[in-house]
Amino acid sequence: MCSCGNASPHVLATRTTADGAKVEIHSDGFVTGVLGYLLPGVGRRRLPATRLWAFAGEVWLYTVPELPGLVTEHQRAEKRQAASEASRAAGLHPNAIVGRGRPSLYGQW
Ligand SMILES: [Zn+2]
Repeated sequence: MCSCGNASPHVLATRTTADGAKVEIHSDGFVTGVLGYLLPGVGRRRLPATRLWAFAGEVWLYTVPELPGLVTEHQRAEKRQAASEASRAAGLHPNAIVGRGRPSLYGQW
């Protein structure tokens, strides 16, 4: 559920890209053009719920052709965050990689 209390999918924010296109960011993670039109390269990929506002804050810096890359980066950032939290929960150094059976080597400097 969205933090606003609305359980059904809805538009969280509307932003304008660097090249002037309106983009809607939905509570279920979709990023679309106005009226829900799919964006080329983004399609039905979703942003993680924890990255929606960070994404919304960066949209104005990018053009429409660059948005698929921005979505990918936010998806990767979420995975990195989850891996970091998993290693912290396991009592390992935050840079340790868990989930492969055993901790791998990691740098500490
Ligand atoms: Zn909401």
